[in-house]
Amino acid sequence: MKITLPTVIMSAAILSITACNRAQEPQEPGFSWTVDRFDDIKILRYQVPEFDSLSLDDKMLVYYLSRAALCGRDILFDQNCRYNLPVRRTLEAMYEHGTTGRASEEWAGFEKYLKKVWFANGVHHHYSNDKFSPEFSPEFFDLLFNSTPQDRFPDDYGTPEELAYIVKKVIFDPDFMPLRVNQQEGEDMLLTSAMNYYEGVTQQEAEQFYDRMADPADNTPVSYGLNSKLTKDQDGKLVERVWKIGGMYSPAIEKIVYWLEKASEHANPVQRAAIEKLISFYITGDLEEFDQFNIMWVQDTLSMVDYVCCFTEVYGDPLGLKASWESMINFRNNEATRRTEIISRNAQWFEDNSPIDPRFKKPEVKGVSAKVITAAMLGGDCYPATPIGVNLPNADWIRRDYGSKSVTIQNITDAYDQAAKGNGFLEEFMLREEDRERIEKYGSLADNLHTDLHECLGHGSGQLVPGVKGDELKNYGSPLEEARADLFALYYIADPKLMELGIVPSEDVAKAEYARYIMNGMMTQLTRIQPGKNVEQAHMRNRKLIAEWCYERGLPENVIEKVVRDGKTYVVVNDFDKLRGLFAELLREVQRIKSTGDYQAGRALVEKYGVQVDPALHAEVLARYSALGIEPYSGFVNPVYNPVMENGKIVDIQVEYTDSYVEQMLDYSRNWSYLPSKN
Ligand code: ZN
Repeated sequence: MKITLPTVIMSAAILSITACNRAQEPQEPGFSWTVDRFDDIKILRYQVPEFDSLSLDDKMLVYYLSRAALCGRDILFDQNCRYNLPVRRTLEAMYEHGTTGRASEEWAGFEKYLKKVWFANGVHHHYSNDKFSPEFSPEFFDLLFNSTPQDRFPDDYGTPEELAYIVKKVIFDPDFMPLRVNQQEGEDMLLTSAMNYYEGVTQQEAEQFYDRMADPADNTPVSYGLNSKLTKDQDGKLVERVWKIGGMYSPAIEKIVYWLEKASEHANPVQRAAIEKLISFYITGDLEEFDQFNIMWVQDTLSMVDYVCCFTEVYGDPLGLKASWESMINFRNNEATRRTEIISRNAQWFEDNSPIDPRFKKPEVKGVSAKVITAAMLGGDCYPATPIGVNLPNADWIRRDYGSKSVTIQNITDAYDQAAKGNGFLEEFMLREEDRERIEKYGSLADNLHTDLHECLGHGSGQLVPGVKGDELKNYGSPLEEARADLFALYYIADPKLMELGIVPSEDVAKAEYARYIMNGMMTQLTRIQPGKNVEQAHMRNRKLIAEWCYERGLPENVIEKVVRDGKTYVVVNDFDKLRGLFAELLREVQRIKSTGDYQAGRALVEKYGVQVDPALHAEVLARYSALGIEPYSGFVNPVYNPVMENGKIVDIQVEYTDSYVEQMLDYSRNWSYLPSKN
């Protein structure tokens, strides 16, 4: 699982500036955090502090792993929609080599569209899943297309006419593949989703295909379907096209493996064994090897350098089986890890004292390892939009038998905080001075702590009753799992135990978190939704579910209050203790739903509280938010690692910080692109 930022703009260090000045941004001397802005997106840089203090072997390991991290970008483009690669390549050719139209007003709309495609790794919004609406015309497209030398276009799709036809259809026909992932009740989620994990296969066929594979008696099932596309052969028989060397996506996987092999030469023996297992999985595509790799990986808690570099998260598949390719290369932040070590050392205490039914508690919490890391390179589904925390592996039985590794990515959070300084957000949406003060003082700690608790305890806690597989909740599984982890964090962030452990200096940390969480869940996260749309994304559904459920449940005692002042709506928490009680009650219920696989109850919760948007409130929030001029989403450009050579040998690696989003994207497309346009 990955955790994304609750609100892009929350930060401990938000300064009291009421007017927003987009040009002026507080920053550390010599380092500008923001490198680009377009549409609803802001592009930031992150720093890699302490890289210089790594040993040469660890630097080399980061360096080679980072190269592997860049090789899977095309895979994600193709996974998101099978036309993404031809679209990206065509637009890039026009952008770089088209000669007519640059002076036109429509050029800006064209450039913005391409920047959005890069950001989303495709033509659908990375968060809302909606296809982008172009702000340039088909006539402008033709003009630019026809002025681009033909040999600049991809030659592996068809004639230039065929290419132009399909690219224009994808861009300009709003009814063609409108949603990347459709989770609408009652519709065939596969036939109506643009994602490329299934082709020509109905939801029912796919569900039957994988139901038949699963053996109910198997206590350690592989992650069926994780690394393949499900389609049909000439005879109409269902077949999996496996992502492996010699299979689908082979050219990119070969490169990933090449760099992994280089990396393994600089790894310690424990790491090397795991990397070799991962390579072996890429060669065979055998999901048992994937499990073996994950077991080795999760047990390595001592190595300084760590990585994710595989098919990992299943959010992009409506059925939650098939994993997008992602990578995050990182190393431990020793200083900040002290906090998470204390938490994980006490994991059993948290499990024993949690408010859930004892039947669903883990008698023995295994190997909850938690650390704070510094991201060194982001790739695939972690780039440019980046999680702030990760908890892996995802297989329930590996988590049960071997535990999981949970990380909080502090240099990413820091970059968000720095870039958000003085944007006026809190002043606009948080009514009470006391709440704003608490958030300014403790918001950053509260955010990081919430992530620690969510990742290293929340996802790892609880158990399924015998006979429950973990996939019963289907499309409601992801939001409910996130709700479970969030509720665990929310419940415990206010526990006196945290003060006893010396992690939390004041009760105000929890109050800051509660006020922020409820405000976000009920109101401010709506800034990420287009007018007329409902909430689709799993983390957002989860936050809305929790906040709305607590609001309704707490109405008789006025626990949470909606206050309207000067025509503006605010959400105020009146009773923090009672709110904690509500979190406990909901956690108990969500855990019951997960542990027993109660699809009906899970569906009812999500549909009632997590999906429907109040249009009037939505419009108000959007108007107030847009007056601040803040982009609701952020992403990152990567640093560049340069080897320092002496007598033909690498003697050091130096970090350089990129300052151009466009240049980095063009560089990745030019130099790190391996897949054909049709896969
Ligand atoms: Zn999570």
